[in-house]
Amino acid sequence: MSESGNSLLEAIAGGAGQSNTETEFYSPMPEGYRRGQHKYVVVLGTVMSGLGKGIFASSMAKLLKDKGLTVAPIKMEGYLNIDSGTLNPFRHGEVFVLDDGTECDMDLGTYERMLDQNLSARNFVTSGQIFRDILDRERHGGYLGRDVQMIPHVTGEVKRRLRELAMYGDGKRPADVIFVEVGGTVGDYENGFYIEALRQLAFEEGPDSVCFVALTYIIEPPALGEQKSKAAQLGVKRVMEAGIQPDIIACRSENPIQPGVAQKIAMFTNTPLRRVFSMHDRKSIYSIPEAMRQEGLDREILSLLNLHDRVDLAHEDRARERWMNYVRKLTSVKSRHLKIGISGKYASLRDAYASIEKSVEHCGTQLNTEIELCWIDASEITDDNASSKLADLDAVIVPGGFGSRGVEGKISCVRHCRESGVPYLGICLGFQVAVIEFARNVMGLVEANSTEFDPHTADPVICELPGQREIEQMGGTMRLGGQDVLIREGTLMWELFGKKDIARQRFRHRYEVNPSYIERIEAAGLIFSGRHPKQPVMQGLEIPRPGTEEAKVGKGRSHPFFVAGQFHPELTGRPLRPQPLFLGLVDAALQRKYGENSNSREHAKSQS
Ligand code: GLN
Repeated sequence: MSESGNSLLEAIAGGAGQSNTETEFYSPMPEGYRRGQHKYVVVLGTVMSGLGKGIFASSMAKLLKDKGLTVAPIKMEGYLNIDSGTLNPFRHGEVFVLDDGTECDMDLGTYERMLDQNLSARNFVTSGQIFRDILDRERHGGYLGRDVQMIPHVTGEVKRRLRELAMYGDGKRPADVIFVEVGGTVGDYENGFYIEALRQLAFEEGPDSVCFVALTYIIEPPALGEQKSKAAQLGVKRVMEAGIQPDIIACRSENPIQPGVAQKIAMFTNTPLRRVFSMHDRKSIYSIPEAMRQEGLDREILSLLNLHDRVDLAHEDRARERWMNYVRKLTSVKSRHLKIGISGKYASLRDAYASIEKSVEHCGTQLNTEIELCWIDASEITDDNASSKLADLDAVIVPGGFGSRGVEGKISCVRHCRESGVPYLGICLGFQVAVIEFARNVMGLVEANSTEFDPHTADPVICELPGQREIEQMGGTMRLGGQDVLIREGTLMWELFGKKDIARQRFRHRYEVNPSYIERIEAAGLIFSGRHPKQPVMQGLEIPRPGTEEAKVGKGRSHPFFVAGQFHPELTGRPLRPQPLFLGLVDAALQRKYGENSNSREHAKSQS
């Protein structure tokens, strides 16, 4: 290393987590951090947001993970919210919840699914978190009398977080490669300091350490019938104006990028043609890793980051074979077809239920079934019209939700499923409406409700528990994140979870089954098959299957598949390990429609 490089490093390291008043460098280095150990791939968006930076980053991360490297993704959001908890799914897509209770962007779901790796708060940063930490530190005298500035302090904080993640890695090993996805597009006010921090990071880490990817968009105006690259050129120019030379250009487009267009992009962005990647629309995002591999993009990245000697080829072969097998099944023509209804407030916006869609897709692939999701506008459903409006559905999912809009319609959906034997999966709010419906229509508690929707109901079968605050520290009164659920032996849920007594599931809710109704509900035939391991808190329910011991309790009340969880099973479904409750739902729908025995329970056993 050159002398100037050494003195730069010393000056930086002099900060060691504190401000350094001697120099202009403020780049807090976590203790023990060693340059050159960790590599970074930075994905920046141009032209417009929502193009799939997360899909690019997660696909590339998967390719490298398959090669035996340890990867750690991080999403850096420009907005000032501390997390995604208060964001409207209508505007921003679903709120994804990590095992540690972090409420974050749905891209983290894409990373978890693609990498089959649990993430934590370390993998998600917002401007709000950065500024909050800096302001807290300032109040505690952490800056030794200096004026606190966007550069170097805010940018320093960004670099600190990245390096801390590098050292943490996947929780077991430090990261070989950190994948940094910056929200929004280059040129936005709100993410400018991230981009500057990343430029600095590349300078400080030195050659072969940071690889920049500019994701751009090639438009194809229907009136012209050809691809135009100007918007992409202008977009990438903004990246270069920020002092960053992209190493790879990923071009989103409807159709494969034309050679002439790729050449233009290469020429105007100083990028070799072999590093201009056509990321056109594909049947499934899960086919992108292999497309990248075939174009040699993985080797390009290994070369750019000098990583070839860390690759484990045998590991890659095994992982690739499993994945390709999955993708082949996913994209093959299926012999069976199901329609699954999802009743939701956000019926018009699919991103709000991204994880449910994916969980269903994983099961369809495993069980060789084409599944069409039908969005039900719950506000249009009543007891009178439910059986006709839902007539052609093979199964129904009532997903999570907040607020009273559409709740009565959801209750009618549940009633239809319960009475006509249509497989039902309730998720969080879908669990609560199942309890309300049962109390009203089976137990005769006609006013039964949740205090969320009717604070003065005569029968508050769902309510806030007084002890909730003491039980849960995180998220104020909200129960958030992963928690063990105790599964009752012999139940359908127990079988689905592979006959295991404990299933770890993720939660995001405030209201619970009122403990004073539990006995009466169970006596009437609705079984709480999942519970909190210590508290009288109900977390899973079912109506027993016909002919089982449990079915004798509730005067013989039975149902082929009526299952609900207070948790969110969709958050833990993974392509190669479909979530057991979804698998059970699809299996039950197949049996109802085709009368055949599919082997989903065997699958569940092998997955868990
Ligand atoms: N609104 C309900 C609660 O707070 C359900 C929440 C959810 O479905 N995520 O308990």
